[in-house]
Amino acid sequence: MAESRPVLDIVAPFLNEAQSASAFAALLDKLEAEVSRRFGMEVHKILVDDGSRDDGAERFSQALSGSWEIVRLSRNFGKEVAVLAGLDQSRGAMALVMDADLQHSMDTSLKMITELVENPDIDVVYAQNDRREASWRRSQLAKLFYSLINSSQRFDIPENAGDFRVMRGAVVRALTSLRDKRRFNKGLFAWAGFRQKAIAYSPENRVTGKSKWSRLNLIAFSLEGFTSFSVIPLRIISLSGMLAALAGIIYGAKVFFEVMFYGIAVPGYPSLMVAVVLLGGLNLTLLGLIGEYVWVTLSESKDRPVYIVRDVVRGDVSGRPPGASGA
Ligand code: UDP
Ligand code: MG
Repeated sequence: MAESRPVLDIVAPFLNEAQSASAFAALLDKLEAEVSRRFGMEVHKILVDDGSRDDGAERFSQALSGSWEIVRLSRNFGKEVAVLAGLDQSRGAMALVMDADLQHSMDTSLKMITELVENPDIDVVYAQNDRREASWRRSQLAKLFYSLINSSQRFDIPENAGDFRVMRGAVVRALTSLRDKRRFNKGLFAWAGFRQKAIAYSPENRVTGKSKWSRLNLIAFSLEGFTSFSVIPLRIISLSGMLAALAGIIYGAKVFFEVMFYGIAVPGYPSLMVAVVLLGGLNLTLLGLIGEYVWVTLSESKDRPVYIVRDVVRGDVSGRPPGASGA
């Protein structure tokens, strides 16, 4: 009888989260009990150790119960890739992706699962962070980022939506078929399409460990978003290049007339400096930007695997069909 119950896979990447291991395992147990009671679904837990340097994997393997596996990557590949590694192991009817740092609550997870179970015409339910950004400047920057990246596409990348989401098996298969090496999940989720629904949530405060995001990380990540999903930066720079050239032509014409008809001596040095610095700066910016895109092209064309699995630790107490073994 138990064989035919639909399976919900819970995918959670972790990096140096040993401190939250037992609490997260307890949360998963409660979630499993609720999911089984309310929807009659079986739960399979897929944790991905994204190259932790602490004993998180051991702690998790002691604390987890039921049907679980821990995919240990050979090094740190970043959360975006770790999520893919987890989804690659997912065989269930639905998959829930959540953080292992206790910032993603059981309540929100259950709300999303309920939405998906009750609405057959929705394929994805994602959690949208409704917490006000800490600083005004940062929220304006985020707005600018999204309006730029969404300005020339057939799909919209929603603001404040992360990996915390539940999706049907078909969506999981679509996502895992996208083998981008430099992954920008928000963009991939949007690119894949399907009927998506947002529900508002605010993440819990982090009680253990610390966030892996620094300001520098965020900037690099935004650039990754642009280079994988947008040509807008290139267009903006080419446009400003054209404007600068136009300004140069107009200014040149003005100087020419002044010399020819009024005999005004041209004050040379300042205007020369302005032109040199402006054009030099534009050139370098454009070069750097092209470099970014070339670098992305290079790393995609090398065709290395997106990640490498060191080993998979399993705890299958309920008989799950074999087949999802190894990398
Ligand atoms: N994480 C990961 N690999 C990384 C960075 C983070 O697997 O390179 C995990 C981390 O352990 C956590 C989740 O991704 O479970 C979210 O990371 P974090 O809490 O640092 O991000 P934030 O919640 O601040 O957005
Ligand atoms: Mg977090």
